[in-house]
Amino acid sequence: MPQAGTPAGSMARYERLFIGGAWVAPEDGGLMESIDPSVGRPWAVVAYGGRCDIDKAVAAARDALDGPWGRMPGHERAALMRRFADLYKERARTLAMLETRDSGRALRESLLDVGGHSNGYHWWASLADKASGRTIPFDDSVHAFTSRVPVGVVGAITPWNVPLMAAAWKLGPALAAGCTVVLKPAEHTPVTSLELGRLFEEAGFPPGVVNIVPGYGKDGAGEYLVAHPGVDKIAFTGEGATAKAILRTGAETMKRFTFELGGKSPHILFADADLEQALNAATNSAWTLCGQSCALGSRVLVQRPVYDRVVEEFARRAARVRVGQPMDEATHMGPQAHAEQLAKTLSYIDIGRNEGAELVAGGNRLGGAGLDGGYFVEPTVFAGVSNAMRIAREEIFGPVAALIPFDDEDEAVAIANDTSYGLTAGLWTGDVGRAHRVANRIRAGMVWVNTYRFIRWSTPYGGFKASGWGRENGIEALESYLETRTTVIST
Ligand code: NAD
Repeated sequence: MPQAGTPAGSMARYERLFIGGAWVAPEDGGLMESIDPSVGRPWAVVAYGGRCDIDKAVAAARDALDGPWGRMPGHERAALMRRFADLYKERARTLAMLETRDSGRALRESLLDVGGHSNGYHWWASLADKASGRTIPFDDSVHAFTSRVPVGVVGAITPWNVPLMAAAWKLGPALAAGCTVVLKPAEHTPVTSLELGRLFEEAGFPPGVVNIVPGYGKDGAGEYLVAHPGVDKIAFTGEGATAKAILRTGAETMKRFTFELGGKSPHILFADADLEQALNAATNSAWTLCGQSCALGSRVLVQRPVYDRVVEEFARRAARVRVGQPMDEATHMGPQAHAEQLAKTLSYIDIGRNEGAELVAGGNRLGGAGLDGGYFVEPTVFAGVSNAMRIAREEIFGPVAALIPFDDEDEAVAIANDTSYGLTAGLWTGDVGRAHRVANRIRAGMVWVNTYRFIRWSTPYGGFKASGWGRENGIEALESYLETRTTVIST
């Protein structure tokens, strides 16, 4: 049984995996340390799974699918999911605090995000008895109809930036569809996913419906899960390069895939927009999650008549962001989630300088004043950026905004679409015709007009192009966890 709290100065211990409804020691995995990025030191000892542990978890998931979960009517599955959602709500503050401890995300953000997950699980529960097929008209010789059946055992592989959200986006629709799951959280942030095991246990889920096995990716639990012939679908959130490796490995067993990958989202500010609102959204979305968000509006496209003002405001507001200890609720932005990400962000700041962009705010690692040892970096703004620069083309995953000027609608659309990504986009304008025209031309899975980052359980979310395959959230997500079986009965 893992521990939720940590006495000051001692390590939290999560030394067991959650497999088949029991807390078990890793068989061929081991123990790893999770680093608190606000101080750069380990704060928890966590179990990780090896190949045998993944074998056991997949077998438990299969047994549950062939057994009690697979036979349970949808409304009973829904009742269990609601119980889980209620427990999640009761524990939301603790979960948010642990998420902040493990990932460094500012607590005020974790509270907002995690505080909403219970509603999401309730929304998914409401769909657990809704999947239905149709009859196919033919003639009197046969009765043909379709049924929607769960895709089977799902391997859910999540990233370190939003562990609980990424888990919820997979567990919700998978369980609503009647699938069973092996959840493998990222090695950097395994703790809160393990905490979910306690809630599934308390809610009374049959053993093996959800199994939680932290571990490494390549040559670790992630790869073993993808290669496993007993897994029917991989639901993955992470980097494009990892997705390609997963595709290659999973091709051997013809798995189904959902991929939620990276982004380099354009946030377009037209001169006729309500500039104050646009600036609020554009600056917030540039620093959210310390820049470690796939939906970050990291390419800010600004029409020339308001460009200088926007640059000035971005620099002024960047300097006002309270960067600090993430557990302090007054803090806007915590550290980067791990040392490699800090190094990546700092290297892109150097790249931006070297390729001739104008650094107008930030640009440094932060230390001193209680921040020493942590992976803190200043909110950073580059002006005079061209879309050909690497800081405009590559996902940095840090709090680095690139401000790109444009003249007219056509140029804005051309720049917005000139990217290998296509996850999200924002546009601000006072002209309703332009809003429709531009939104219609943007090649992205989510386009926000005069708002940004409006994401709900009911709104399908996912990428065009290199930003992914399939959708999470919305009915589309439920569909991705279902197969269609056509039955033809000779009459
Ligand atoms: P990552 O690809 O490095 O790791 C993601 C997960 O994959 C981890 O659990 C890791 O252990 C596992 N993994 C790594 N190699 C593997 C392999 N060969 N086989 C199986 N599993 C493997 O990604 P990350 O650095 O954790 O996350 C950051 C990325 O995620 C960014 O690109 C970001 O844009 C993206 N992201 C996308 C969304 C979205 O909804 N589109 C949301 C959050 C993050």
